[in-house]
Amino acid sequence: MATIGFIGLGRMGLPMARNLLKAGHAVRAFDVIAGALDAAVGAGAVGAPSAADVADDVETVVTMLPAGRDTLDVYERSGVLGRARKGTLFIDCSTIDVASAKRTHALAAEAGMPSLDAPVSGGIAGAEAATLTFMVGGEASAYEAGLSALEAMGARFVHCGEAGAGQIAKMCNQMMVAINMAGVAVSTSSGGSWALSHYVPVPGLVATSAAERGFKPGFTTNLMLKDLKIFQEAAREAGTATPVGAVTTALYNLFQASGHGELDYSGIIELIRGQAKR
Ligand code: NAD
Repeated sequence: MATIGFIGLGRMGLPMARNLLKAGHAVRAFDVIAGALDAAVGAGAVGAPSAADVADDVETVVTMLPAGRDTLDVYERSGVLGRARKGTLFIDCSTIDVASAKRTHALAAEAGMPSLDAPVSGGIAGAEAATLTFMVGGEASAYEAGLSALEAMGARFVHCGEAGAGQIAKMCNQMMVAINMAGVAVSTSSGGSWALSHYVPVPGLVATSAAERGFKPGFTTNLMLKDLKIFQEAAREAGTATPVGAVTTALYNLFQASGHGELDYSGIIELIRGQAKR
């Protein structure tokens, strides 16, 4: 069993860190929000006073942060890369844009650290049950080295290819789930999808869907819109047409602009129904 540093103890990071502890790993944890750190300490982690302090005597550092700028901030400015022992494995599980992911790999390599981008699918329920799917980019040797930590937090692991490949797979998934969610909200279609069978945006059908709790997230509209913009930008750079994804991005933009960024993304049904009020 290893000692693992964990930075970012939010809706996903906290249950993931708990599962590392349950599997017998030791965890050194940090979050900028004191309450999040307290919750990890309550679960058995050692609280670190800063992101850099997480790196003391650990074999692996996991980050689970909102967006690319946050991961880059930790990699570039927190001092964590300078503090870690050479050869410490850095795994970023956040969903971030491919350029930032490649930059984090480069920063880790310059500091003498192997690294992986390893975004996840499965939501909070998957994070709690340790059934997440990890889409992983990076060297095969780093992937092999990271598996025991990932196995404590998930059930499916796909080595998608080189640095950034995990994020490319993840953004395709995000576009599909957003299109499906907006589609489910528009009609009672018989076309099956995960959004319809597991996360339907109306109450009374699926006990675990956010509709049961007034669209308390879950996965926020702010984070979904971040992912959709990443995908649209990547598609533009690749010269790939994604018209349905573009319409879905516009819908989520409207929903966020009407003041609903902190609602679960399945709340998009309120926009479609004309019930999304400022
Ligand atoms: P969240 O906002 O609940 O958690 C992020 C945490 O990071 C917060 O506790 C915040 O305080 C902390 N943080 C931010 N900057 C920091 C810094 N510099 N140092 C230390 N801590 C810092 O977000 P979340 O829902 O847990 O999502 C995290 C990532 O996982 C995002 O990239 C998201 O797109 C992705 N994701 C989320 C879900 C979901 O269902 N929520 C599912 C799959 C992937």
